[in-house]
Amino acid sequence: MRAERWQTITKLELIGFGIGFPLFLGLVWASQPGFVFLLDHANLLFHEAGHPIIGLFSQRLEPYGGTIGQLVFPVALAVSFWRKGQALPFAAALIWFFENWLNIAHYMADARALQLPLVGGGDHDWNTILSHWRLLAHDTQIAGVVKTSGWIGIVLAAVWGAWRGWANRGGPEVRSEFTEWR
Ligand SMILES: [Zn+2]
Repeated sequence: MRAERWQTITKLELIGFGIGFPLFLGLVWASQPGFVFLLDHANLLFHEAGHPIIGLFSQRLEPYGGTIGQLVFPVALAVSFWRKGQALPFAAALIWFFENWLNIAHYMADARALQLPLVGGGDHDWNTILSHWRLLAHDTQIAGVVKTSGWIGIVLAAVWGAWRGWANRGGPEVRSEFTEWR
């Protein structure tokens, strides 16, 4: 991918990302496991909206609607930032996307235990889904893989953002044609 694909990143954006990411990590650590304050409140909202929307199209897919719902919004944001060439907002949207995986893993790991309080007290999505695929006995293992993948995604997105931030930093000098075409 050519560097020119991405807009120049200002110092202010870089500082925002440099402060924002540690703040995000602090929030994850300070929150109860699997439910990050504010961020997962928003995710829950998209989750709950996802069920009836997907349910409109297919009753069979309705149990998946919550998970799809909470992933669709960060993906849509990421695509939009990617198209605009805004590297750091793109990285932030990816971090949010992968933070959702931690939240999903937490719910998934509860498929047999059924200890989590459910909004509306309805069916347990992952109990339904994993039972259907005869994977219920592996709920915590699968959740472990999802959680680890989520963290890997978060770290990769952050490292990519930091690297992009460095590569596309706006210097005080105007970049010459020569460096652009190198
Ligand atoms: Zn649900």
